[in-house]
Amino acid sequence: MGPLDGEVILVTGGTGLVGKAVQEIIAQDPPKGETWVFIGSKDADLTSYEETKALFERVKPTQIIHLAAFVGGLFANMKYKVEFWRKNILMQDNIMVLSKEYGVKKLVSCLSTCIFPDKTTYPIDETMIHLGPPHSSNEGYAYAKRLVDVQNRMYNEQYGCNFTSVVPTNIFGKHDNFNLDQGHVVPNLIHKCYIAQRDGTPFTAWGSGKPLRQFIYNLDLARLMIWVLREYKEADPIILSVGEEDEVPISDVVHMIADSMGFMGEIIFDKTKADGQYKKTASNLKLRAYLPDFKFTPMATAIRETTAWFKENYDTARK
Ligand code: NDP
Repeated sequence: MGPLDGEVILVTGGTGLVGKAVQEIIAQDPPKGETWVFIGSKDADLTSYEETKALFERVKPTQIIHLAAFVGGLFANMKYKVEFWRKNILMQDNIMVLSKEYGVKKLVSCLSTCIFPDKTTYPIDETMIHLGPPHSSNEGYAYAKRLVDVQNRMYNEQYGCNFTSVVPTNIFGKHDNFNLDQGHVVPNLIHKCYIAQRDGTPFTAWGSGKPLRQFIYNLDLARLMIWVLREYKEADPIILSVGEEDEVPISDVVHMIADSMGFMGEIIFDKTKADGQYKKTASNLKLRAYLPDFKFTPMATAIRETTAWFKENYDTARK
């Protein structure tokens, strides 16, 4: 690929859950005068400064949505703290220093609610990220991601760079990782329900089903991230989430999945398995102050679309 003309928006992590959703939203109504470039790890290993620089030289991005990250479940986070720290730090440092060198006009990176202090009050908001240590199980990932926010402010202050970050809650949707051991709760349950229906066995969810969570559909998140790229001017992060009133118990999610798959068998909540934190409520008041009328896709609709996609793409889905 040679250098591109006009506005060039580079999306790192373009092959992932969020990246694919951004791709789908952009494809629905391709913006004029813009070229969107979606890349995965095969296009450039962003932990390597040389490969990242070669990518910038090839693409000459004018704006960036940086989604690429080294992510994983609890077990991996506990076992590979150094890798979670180092790979994420290297990626974000390379992206930032090169964004500054190449005069990138806007850089949006991605934090997560799981990097917030372990001991905190609820609801959490954007001002609380650094107010205490994260849970020790994911401290490598959490401290690396927290530094995105610190780096954004330093680049802004010293070089006037327009770098910012968003904080999504639990994301799900098409193109998720449906792995039964490593996947997040929604894709994990969808895969389990699929197997239960296929094999005529009970659909067993782990835990009591009582914990509450806020979920965001990847297509809604993609729309909001594109808005952040275009309209949001602060260096400080913004939580992208449904409201506190839309927190749902896991048991509701289980029933929505069963309904959407037409699963008529037995549903079991295995209470011998840990529930995890009862709730981790995040406030979306900052988002609502900017976008009071944004309509989130109803959870049941989003679940229906995701389960339909998983059934249709069972052979090729990440699992
Ligand atoms: P995925 O796991 O679906 O995708 C990760 C992406 O990162 C892939 O495109 C992968 O490329 C790319 N990547 C990984 N390592 C490298 C590397 N060394 N060089 C270049 N690219 C790399 O992630 P999500 O879409 O779920 O996450 C997007 C962002 O959202 C991340 O920053 C994550 O921390 C954040 N987030 C996610 C949440 C969730 O619930 N999923 C919750 C909150 C925040 P490839 O596939 O080609 O290897």
